[in-house]
Amino acid sequence: MMGEMTWPDYKSRVEKGAIVLVPFGSTEQHGYHMCLGTDSLLPTAVSRAVAEQIDAIVAPAVNYGARSQPKSGGGNHYIGTTSLSGVTLIHLVRDMIVEFARHGVRRLVLMNGHMENGPFLAEGVDVAMRELKLEGITDMTILKLDYYEFTSEETLKIVFPDGFPGWALEHAAVFETSLMMSLHPGMVDLSRVREERLANFPPYDIYPADLEAIPPSGALSPAGSASVEKGERMMKEYAALIPPAILKAFGL
Ligand SMILES: [Zn+2]
Repeated sequence: MMGEMTWPDYKSRVEKGAIVLVPFGSTEQHGYHMCLGTDSLLPTAVSRAVAEQIDAIVAPAVNYGARSQPKSGGGNHYIGTTSLSGVTLIHLVRDMIVEFARHGVRRLVLMNGHMENGPFLAEGVDVAMRELKLEGITDMTILKLDYYEFTSEETLKIVFPDGFPGWALEHAAVFETSLMMSLHPGMVDLSRVREERLANFPPYDIYPADLEAIPPSGALSPAGSASVEKGERMMKEYAALIPPAILKAFGL
């Protein structure tokens, strides 16, 4: 964990070519039953598990994320949801990449846990890479990944026996709740899950948001069938599948 290292220790690890992982999350409502930090805690846990296997460094997580959208995070009207504008996030990502490059880091992984961050991370990477190129740094490689994309078909069938609703509708639902139950049981209270309808959104976005379309609890599909076992299964899979994918992508 970079935040727990001294700078000389960090420097010597970077000089040896260490991969640096940066968890990106959010501070966002996760229903009545789960904490606001869920999207940051999960990619941080995944990053830790991955780093242990490939001897990587985990940088401090970015605990604020892009504006919550109704169809993937319930929307930005909930009290507690605390978002960055896209422009701010782009600049934040760009600044961080340029700093890591200055340290000598040449392999960086952006480990995302909040879907809305995606396009802004991509843009921040692009701006940073152009800037680094002008400075003559052309040997940096950056990976951007949403850790949940590493869930296998087989696991999806086990976690969602009645059908997988898609990652966007899995906000504060079975997938995130199961992972939190396995990693941070004290931050989940299943008795507070409200068994509401599955969110049913039209195939467009409307501004201002149609609050009627959003389940009032903020969870976009019912989390009632979440379990520690499901969480452990997914976590095990991420720990097994993500490290080799990272090494392969970096040509190691
Ligand atoms: Zn989430």
